[in-house]
Amino acid sequence: MKDKMYAVVKEKPKHGAVYKEVEVPEIGPEQILIKVESTSICGTDHHIYKWNKWAQNNIKPPQIMGHEVAGEVVKVGSRVKKVDIGDFVSSETHIPCGHCFQCQTGQEHICSNMRILGVHQDGVFAEYAVLEDVDVWKTDPSIPKDFASIQEPLGNAIDTILPGNVAGKDVLITGAGPVGLISVAVAKTFGAANILVSEPNEYRRELSKKMGADHVVNPIENNLLDVVFDIFGKKGVDFTAEMSGNPTAIKNGIKAVTAGGIVSLLGLPDNEVSLDLTNDIIFKNIKVIGVTGRKMFSTWHIASNLLKGNRIDLSPVITHKFDLKDFEKGMKLMEQGNCGKIILKP
Ligand code: NAD
Ligand code: ZN
Repeated sequence: MKDKMYAVVKEKPKHGAVYKEVEVPEIGPEQILIKVESTSICGTDHHIYKWNKWAQNNIKPPQIMGHEVAGEVVKVGSRVKKVDIGDFVSSETHIPCGHCFQCQTGQEHICSNMRILGVHQDGVFAEYAVLEDVDVWKTDPSIPKDFASIQEPLGNAIDTILPGNVAGKDVLITGAGPVGLISVAVAKTFGAANILVSEPNEYRRELSKKMGADHVVNPIENNLLDVVFDIFGKKGVDFTAEMSGNPTAIKNGIKAVTAGGIVSLLGLPDNEVSLDLTNDIIFKNIKVIGVTGRKMFSTWHIASNLLKGNRIDLSPVITHKFDLKDFEKGMKLMEQGNCGKIILKP
């Protein structure tokens, strides 16, 4: 095996990143080295690239970027039992501590001492990457490599949509970024009767239709609530999945839900959002659920099963593929928003 590799490195605490040669990393006893076969860009990577406030507070350059990945195991640490050399794997990105209250009570995905791949340690935008034994997920080799890499955001979508019990229901999805788009397919797969997607970007509204949306609306040009009541009647929708983080979308997404309905919140607003708790949540007796990460590993089990059996078609969401060295083309598209999921190939 060679001892040098190419990687996308966040080298300096400023805008940008570089594609450069670095050492192939060593592994510890509870780590795994993979040959990266597919990686995908997440909004978080774009934030790190842009060097926004969150990145400035969380990233310590130099560090290899990226966390969504699929690849082949080439080395295993002495204490690794879950996988063998040659296995096809993906990885959870939340690295749990294993000893806090949440970890001890089977909720590793919300560990209080959480570390994140590609955020708190070197990531996967490279020819080889180190994964943690606790995070590695053996993946059926029949799953196409690019879909295997997006199991991680698929898991976000699954944990957002499933609490909505969407079978036969009227569903509103606010925000059709990559995770919102994947959520459309998840809601369809789990039997949603009607899906309305609210998204300002025309490219993403069109993509939503390809993912299975029955209706799309531009919330900047239209009053979302009028559109909801027009399509679904005064009762509103049974379930809203909020995938934008936009305060107006959050408020209207909650108002759009029928009394007794359910709202899942995955989108992350930058600041506090004020809500009419009395009228929009309490008197309506609705359930509001915060969603983060993916359950380890019951969500992964579902994600893999959906992909393995071709029960979900994610092909429209993969809109671009670039060589890893051309990662900046992907970052530019992320900036404009005219994209779904972008794959990078080492
Ligand atoms: P993204 O930023 O690519 O997508 C957000 C979309 O919302 C964009 O397409 C944008 O045009 C749209 N939008 C903006 N204003 C809107 C409005 N008023 N109404 C409807 N849509 C509007 O993000 P993504 O990668 O798809 O992730 C979705 C959200 O989920 C982000 O806020 C992200 O930070 C968050 N997220 C949370 C978790 C978690 O674990 N909780 C995990 C992944 C992503
Ligand atoms: Zn923990």
